[in-house]
Formats: sequence, C-alpha cells, structure tokens
Amino acid sequence: MKKVLAIDVDDVLADSTVFWHGEVNRRTGAKLELDHWLVPGEYSRYYERVWEKHGIGHLISIDHIDEYMKQDQSQIKATPAATKVLKKLAERYELVIVTARNRNQEAATRKWLDKVYPGLVERIYFTRDPVSQAVRSKGEICAEIGASWLIDDFPGHCKDALANGVKPILYGQYGWHVDIPEGVVRCKKWQDIESYFDEQEA
Ligand SMILES: [Mg+2]
Repeated sequence: MKKVLAIDVDDVLADSTVFWHGEVNRRTGAKLELDHWLVPGEYSRYYERVWEKHGIGHLISIDHIDEYMKQDQSQIKATPAATKVLKKLAERYELVIVTARNRNQEAATRKWLDKVYPGLVERIYFTRDPVSQAVRSKGEICAEIGASWLIDDFPGHCKDALANGVKPILYGQYGWHVDIPEGVVRCKKWQDIESYFDEQEA
C-alpha cells in the first residue's frame, strides 16, 4: 500500500499570493511589488496588514477574495515545478489534499484541481464542516487518514502535524514564515521536495 502524502492548496499547489499580488494591483490601481507581500509578519490577517500598510485597505477585502474563489479560480496558476514533481510522487505515494479553504469554495476548488493537476489527487479533505462550520485541525485529519507527511506553507499547521505524529514539510518562502517549530523540514521550492522524497523510502 502506498504511503499517504497530504498537501495543502493555497501557496503550495496554487500560486495564490503571486496571483493576488497582481490582481489586487489591477483592482485597486496600487503598484505594490511582490516584495511588499513578503515582509515578515504573523500569518493571521497577513494580507490585510499588507493592504493597510500601503493605504488600500478600504479598496480590497478578504470578502472580495472569497467571492472570486467560490466562482472561478481559473486565473490562478500552479506553483513552479509542482506538476512535474507531483507526477513523480504520485508513482510512489497516494496524494491527498487537506485544505482550510471555505466550503463555499469547494466546487471551484475541485474544478481547479481537476484542470491543473488532472488525475493526480485521490481525495480532498476540508478542515471545515460544511454545515456546522466546525473546524478540525490539519494534524487531526492527517492522523485520521493515516498521512505520513503534510506539505503546508503555514508554520501553525506544521506544528499541529508534529503534535499528531505527522511529518511536516514547510513549503515556500513567505512573509508568514516566522516562529517555525523545530522538527519541520523546509523546502523552498518543489525541486527541494523532490530531492527530499528521493532520499525517503517509499
Ligand atoms: Mg496554504
């Protein structure tokens, strides 16, 4: 039986922050550089703090993002090299998605995954219950489904994976990569993830 590899969507499989950097400039007329979205700071309200700092907090909100994300995600690209590496990993591991996205984005998320990563994802788990909106932690879900690893861009989810006996891989280089717990493997690029798994036993 293949070992299970749990993977996050935003800023891991989907180049979400790169997309919103361009889209927010387009919508608000701002001229922010990507570097402005990489300033170190905590994860909670990260985007809002970037907007407020640059005087566009009244022009854009998380609700606007949610509105887009539940209808159409087609302009969001895969992160660089993810497709190539995932295809290789799918030969050795069962790839499942674990995401904290809102449930109202579920249909659009499934459509996006089918289009961008066709045939690669076996199952999708949402941390939120569709009815009660109760949230289960990613670590809990990973432990329940028997995932051996979690690849995520948020140190908090990595910490939670550790607490649940799941090996966390922190992906990317993001402003919210502060307070990274010990025991987390860091992979800045998908090529680094490929190298990491080349060294693991299947
Ligand atoms: Mg994410």
